[in-house]
Amino acid sequence: MMKNKRVLVKFSGEALAGENGFGIDTSILKFIADEIKTLVNSGIEVGIVIGGGNIIRGVSAAKDGIIKRTSGDYMGMLSTVINSIAMQEALEHVGMEVRVQSAIKMEAISETFIVRRAQRHLQKGRIVIFAAGTGNPYFTTDTAATLRAIEINSDMIIKATKVDGVYDKDPKKFLDATKLNELSYERAMDDSIKVMDDTSVALAKDNNLPIVVCNMFVKNNLLEIINGDYSKCSIVQKQNN
Ligand code: UDP
Repeated sequence: MMKNKRVLVKFSGEALAGENGFGIDTSILKFIADEIKTLVNSGIEVGIVIGGGNIIRGVSAAKDGIIKRTSGDYMGMLSTVINSIAMQEALEHVGMEVRVQSAIKMEAISETFIVRRAQRHLQKGRIVIFAAGTGNPYFTTDTAATLRAIEINSDMIIKATKVDGVYDKDPKKFLDATKLNELSYERAMDDSIKVMDDTSVALAKDNNLPIVVCNMFVKNNLLEIINGDYSKCSIVQKQNN
């Protein structure tokens, strides 16, 4: 499965916030940085995308009609830049080499996304954090992460979440919800499932990119996945039958 020894890990912004749901909890940043470090030390090239939901989401910012949706989305994209800079610091703190590449030009803060340059950083063992989503409103960071994963020839996208995988229905609402260890892209797009938004799942499907969903707070989870152990997660990929 790890043909290119390259992964893209997507973290939601919300996960960075910890208990209070807003801002950035540095102990969580440190935990993630240590997890990513184990991947790099195992010879894996790592790209990262972080959402912005702990600061602003376009839809919520625009809900009362004062802020336009497009502006709200740009505010959301800027939130991902804030999170990316924080993550860069945490990774450098644990001795990693990191570059942030933003989809929106911000030359005093980060590099601008250039795929060939990103590839070069990865080959040199640097972690690349892709910030500002796709650079376009009406998209999500899940779609941005899927897009970047495909652009850098990642073996898979790992969606690191607060849950340990994909369930047939919401496990918070239904006691009989069961975890799906493996599922098709078509199933992942079912309304009851919602692994990621349909745009990102469709993009992954068209490009045959496996999506692995795991709990980001379980130590060594990412390492086990890249070593081929999918027992503690769910995987969305092409089904042969
Ligand atoms: N966003 C956008 N275009 C993109 C990626 C993100 O407009 O390509 C905006 C959108 O408003 C989104 C916000 O940035 O709500 C934060 O991203 P997201 O909601 O995906 O973050 P997460 O839920 O992963 O924390």
